[in-house]
Amino acid sequence: MLRVAIDGPSGTGKSTIAKAVAARFGLEYIDTGAMYRALGLKALRNGVDAADEAAVKKMLDETAIDFAGGCTMLDDEDVSGLIRTNEISMAASNISKLAIVRAKVDEVSRYLASTKDVVMEGRDIGTTVIPDAEVKIFMTASPEIRARRRYEQLLEAGKEADYDKIYEEVQARDYQDSHREVSPLRQAEDAAFLDTSDLNIEEVVDAVSGIITEKTGRTA
Ligand code: C5P
Repeated sequence: MLRVAIDGPSGTGKSTIAKAVAARFGLEYIDTGAMYRALGLKALRNGVDAADEAAVKKMLDETAIDFAGGCTMLDDEDVSGLIRTNEISMAASNISKLAIVRAKVDEVSRYLASTKDVVMEGRDIGTTVIPDAEVKIFMTASPEIRARRRYEQLLEAGKEADYDKIYEEVQARDYQDSHREVSPLRQAEDAAFLDTSDLNIEEVVDAVSGIITEKTGRTA
């Protein structure tokens, strides 16, 4: 069994790296943030306020989420494309504060990790979701660099982007994710720390691969 947990704030390149590492080692890639995003999307669509726990609970009881084959499924609808907006980023962060929401995503995530060897990325994989993961990595980069990467991503996708606004949003989401009561974003004591500020994607993939090999003896 091989479970690689990658945690860290937004814009560190976690998703790109996790996907590349999964391909290199023949592991399944699981994006837990995508499931919070799907729940954030449903809350927005249905006018459910993240602060109204009873309403969120009712919504959760009537909702199925899954992450399969790289696609984010919300009630059997593929929402992979719809959830990549700034509005949904904040909606996900808001709803992810609730313990009942986290329990739902944790359950799906743990089930997925029990059926396959995985690279799972999020905020609390090494601390809460799979605390006994064989490999744990905490990835970070300076807020300026993370905002710059997000800005360039949006421009490349042909979307509108305002660097100052993105920078503010990065900081607001970091603060909210690291200061919530339940499973805040933090480095697990036994996680390897990786600052990606001055590294390109290939260098980070190599660094993560090196950590996996060192910890488990598995080679790509
Ligand atoms: O990783 P991504 O930016 O897609 O995650 C969206 C939001 O979902 C995060 O800002 C965070 O609030 C929440 N999240 C979480 N725990 C995870 C993954 C994501 O709270 N394991």
